[in-house]
Amino acid sequence: MGNENQPEKVLKDVELFLRQQAELFGDETFLPAAAKGGESEDGTAATVETRPLQSDEIKGESHPGKSEPDLKQKSKTIRVAEDRELFEGKVLNPQWMIDPHWYESDSLATLDSRVSGCKKCQLGSTRKNFVFGVGNPNSKLVLIGEAPGADEDEKGEPFVGRAGQLLNKILAAVQLRREDVYICNILKCRPPNNRDPIPDEVEACEPFLKKQLEIIKPKLILCLGRIAGQTLLKTNVTLTELRNNIYLYEGIKVMVTFHPAALLRNPNWKRPAWEDVQKMRKLYDEL
Ligand code: SF4
Repeated sequence: MGNENQPEKVLKDVELFLRQQAELFGDETFLPAAAKGGESEDGTAATVETRPLQSDEIKGESHPGKSEPDLKQKSKTIRVAEDRELFEGKVLNPQWMIDPHWYESDSLATLDSRVSGCKKCQLGSTRKNFVFGVGNPNSKLVLIGEAPGADEDEKGEPFVGRAGQLLNKILAAVQLRREDVYICNILKCRPPNNRDPIPDEVEACEPFLKKQLEIIKPKLILCLGRIAGQTLLKTNVTLTELRNNIYLYEGIKVMVTFHPAALLRNPNWKRPAWEDVQKMRKLYDEL
């Protein structure tokens, strides 16, 4: 029995090692199969195509929920159809503990109250607190991380603790206050031991993020960290490439920079992060 599981254990050790290397060095070579464009359980491609915007496209208008036709994300999975039905409130398992009218919410507070009991994925059973989001519901800038950490799980608010304090300083450096922007995560519940989100969790939770964005109608998203950027944009390109380009998500322009926690671990990244937020501020002013 022990010998039969040996190859699986070695693979898990290799995966853990690669993840640690990726976390340490920023750019990475490892991603779960689905995020790399592998096949989903139904045998169809599980990812969407994403490409950076060209300079003439960056200046153009963006509309939440409506991608420009030539930039439209392409995905042909059955899962997307299911996701759309879920998004429209047609498919709802009572055990998920979501208000069946969640999709009709016309304010963030209403949406929060309708989905905060969510048990749609395994994280609903291990979280301490549901972490919906915080900030200005009318902001044209939304900051998105990958998932709550321990401090966030404890307090029910995104980006608190040391990383949150650094984020506040980063915002202040470009004349923005925390309360000026909206801050949330792709996942609303903490993955155990702060592991990366897995594709099924993202698939389960992403409709809530899309609905938040539909209500807020931001012009710009700043993804905090490589995992947030790769997960949101369904790509496995490096953090360097993500940082050097502007993308679209649901018709909203997206920039990616370092996660504040990564900057605490590696102060050498503070300078490039500073350059990123200056670029972000310039684009923010132009939108
Ligand atoms: S992570 Fe998202 S989908 Fe999963 S239980 Fe939490 S709110 Fe629900």
